[in-house]
Amino acid sequence: MKIRFIILALLLVIPSLSPLNAAEDKFASARKKMVEGDLKGRDITDQNVLEIMGRVERHRFVDKHLQSIAYADHPLPIDEGQTISQPYIVALMTQILKLKSGEKVLEIGTGSGYQAAVLSEITDSVYSIEIRKNLAEKAETRLKELGYGNVKVKAADGYFGWEEYAPFDAVIVTCAANHIPPPLTKQLKEGGKLIIPLGSTTYYQTLTLITKIKGELDVQHISGVAFVPMVGEAERKK
Ligand code: SAH
Repeated sequence: MKIRFIILALLLVIPSLSPLNAAEDKFASARKKMVEGDLKGRDITDQNVLEIMGRVERHRFVDKHLQSIAYADHPLPIDEGQTISQPYIVALMTQILKLKSGEKVLEIGTGSGYQAAVLSEITDSVYSIEIRKNLAEKAETRLKELGYGNVKVKAADGYFGWEEYAPFDAVIVTCAANHIPPPLTKQLKEGGKLIIPLGSTTYYQTLTLITKIKGELDVQHISGVAFVPMVGEAERKK
């Protein structure tokens, strides 16, 4: 009786699982292709970053109807007219920060939570600020559900940083500003790195790396990028 019941249960469960597995396989192979072609194929050489990009399920950070193109080589829309960055840019910014396990990182612009999830695979101390309350709440819930509970999300204007947890080893700004918010460099540790798309907030910006060396800011230009603007205080201080 018991065995018959188990067989019946298996017969019911197996066919309903297989389409799901097929879809998961499709995502896994799209992710592999992305890592090989768009990341390794360019200048992403950090093994840890490559492994993480191959592991984090980007399709879970976009709406259902966009999941089939979640691993394509371009940004994708999220709610409220915002975007999740191109995978290559996420990998590049992560690689440049040279973050180590145990270090503390602050992200400005949580958006979908994808970049925060990538960072949280390197260190347990990820702090992320999102100015749009709905996005912050959605990202926080999503990150918890996907097992990235170590990311702390706050709905606020990231211009002012997160004093309570400062100083940070790294700050990653994923929205564009025409100047570096002074509180962010203040909250950076000696030797710490800050990466930000700097320049026009309506067109293109220069991805800029700031390193705090003996209290001074060393500035390095990385590449041209296009990010959504940082709103709030950054706009008022234009
Ligand atoms: N890192 C995100 C993508 C960010 S898109 C991801 O991986 O999905 C940029 C985000 O910055 C948007 O969600 C936007 O609402 C947010 N943003 C804009 N100005 C901000 C500010 N002053 N403080 C915090 N977040 C801000």
